[in-house]
Amino acid sequence: MSYKIQQEEGEGACLECGTVFYGRKDKQFCNAACKNKWHNRLLRERRQLRMETVAALARNYEILEGLLKANRQSAGLAELSELGFDPECITGHRKGRCRHDEYRCFDISYYRSPAKIFNVRRKASGER
Ligand SMILES: [Zn+2]
Repeated sequence: MSYKIQQEEGEGACLECGTVFYGRKDKQFCNAACKNKWHNRLLRERRQLRMETVAALARNYEILEGLLKANRQSAGLAELSELGFDPECITGHRKGRCRHDEYRCFDISYYRSPAKIFNVRRKASGER
């Protein structure tokens, strides 16, 4: 013998097109096409954000490598910002033992103050 648990029903509005429908309380879409459209857009937005973040990391890395090639260990955040450096895009962060935290962009590390980054260096292979 099987028991079917009665789902509560009520009015809802489609997340995609806003059409008001009557059905199960947890129903979110008026039909499968709207459900697919909504999920496809969500996936597209997530993929877009991921691609933008990867591009920002690549740009940051190029800028940091440029500093190292020019034998510079520091640069002002204003100068870096003009080059397109995004200080929010990092691959690692470690609480500093002294005053400043260490930031990572792949194998390049640096410290950051409110106005500049400094002690820019390439980590030795295997160094964490
Ligand atoms: Zn709909």
